[in-house]
Amino acid sequence: MTEGPHRFLCRDCLTDHVREHGALDRCPACGSPRLISHPERDSLSIAHVDCDAFYASIEKRDDPSLADKPVIVGGGRRGVVSTACYVARTYGVRSAMPMFKALKACPDAVVIRPNMEKYVRVGREVRRMMLELTPLVEPLSIDEAFLDLSGTERLHHASPAATLAAFARRVETEIGITVSIGLAPNKFLAKIASDLDKPRGFSIIGRREAADFLADKPVSLIHGVGKVAEERLAKAGFRRIRDLRDAWPERLTALLGREGPRLHRLAHGIDDRMVDPERETKSISAETTFEHDIADPAVLVPILWRLSEKLSARLKHAGLAGRTVTLKLKTADFRLRTRSRTLPATQLASRLFEAGRDLLQAECDGTAFRLLGIGATEICAAEEADLGDLADQDVRRARDMERAVDTLRERFGAAAVVKGIVFKNREPD
Ligand SMILES: [Mg+2]
Repeated sequence: MTEGPHRFLCRDCLTDHVREHGALDRCPACGSPRLISHPERDSLSIAHVDCDAFYASIEKRDDPSLADKPVIVGGGRRGVVSTACYVARTYGVRSAMPMFKALKACPDAVVIRPNMEKYVRVGREVRRMMLELTPLVEPLSIDEAFLDLSGTERLHHASPAATLAAFARRVETEIGITVSIGLAPNKFLAKIASDLDKPRGFSIIGRREAADFLADKPVSLIHGVGKVAEERLAKAGFRRIRDLRDAWPERLTALLGREGPRLHRLAHGIDDRMVDPERETKSISAETTFEHDIADPAVLVPILWRLSEKLSARLKHAGLAGRTVTLKLKTADFRLRTRSRTLPATQLASRLFEAGRDLLQAECDGTAFRLLGIGATEICAAEEADLGDLADQDVRRARDMERAVDTLRERFGAAAVVKGIVFKNREPD
């Protein structure tokens, strides 16, 4: 870390200026006030990149007459706001708000039905540009990702900060939307930083300021501290991150179990998680080992359905979906058989099951099995999955039915709706 001369990087013309003393309000080269300056600027390499009002920005890009209007993407059968543009946000419109409420707050809003196919396409373009900066890109959803730019200085002849500023400019000129960037020593701080200065933001949280920066923030700023944990912490006197930082780790463990030490470290601004580009390709699965070996498809198929529901619940809980379904079988003599099929990304039990059942039926040749499992790989964000409202009526019907079932179960418990929607016309023949 160097004291002394201060460097100022212009986010518009990308020139780097050095000043021995004092600050710089505007770029001497182009006059822009958008300067990045931070004592740790050139020693940080973990970034969180998040597109600004992603769906709404794409719609504005494609229809310039919307530029200054309040735009809400959403509506349709669920009747909630997917994304509100920044103009609409000044009226108090927020994501996940019921549409009628949003329109009460902002009656002049232009409401646009989501075009997920288009958003997925733009999301891929942004991701491709990220991958030109570093192979270490960990997507979190359709429009945000962590990037690890360590060791990329020689490739780009620029510090990570300068590389990211150039990236943001390139996304604006070539794709026509804007991003916000957080740069920090780790993922936890980078994600917080990207949110500080939206839209078109670029914020840095350095190592030395992290603990102070966090001290006054509410504990809910920490990812994973939801309503329940927040209440439990508040009852024990932990409201600010400072309270967690100053607590005995043992006390937090007693209160929150294994989460305790993690929170304590995060409260100090410490986060050792790597940027993991493989996270997407990992699999989520469900399997079961039988008490007695089973060969009969009439017995195996209903078990597969239950596993598909379990797998689907896991995907839904994580906000994820899979593009490849893998069936796993272990024979009575412990031989492993895996069979895969790729399909449009899904998180629906019915679609996972249908793919799994086809694969299973091809394996039912009298062999006795001791284990059956189903998994999803090529994991992607739920937003990219089950896009049936575009073309495919069947997918839409399956999705709506499953959502209805999920809602009933949330209200009345898992037993309220027992299998059934799938065993209609394709029994084993
Ligand atoms: Mg975003």
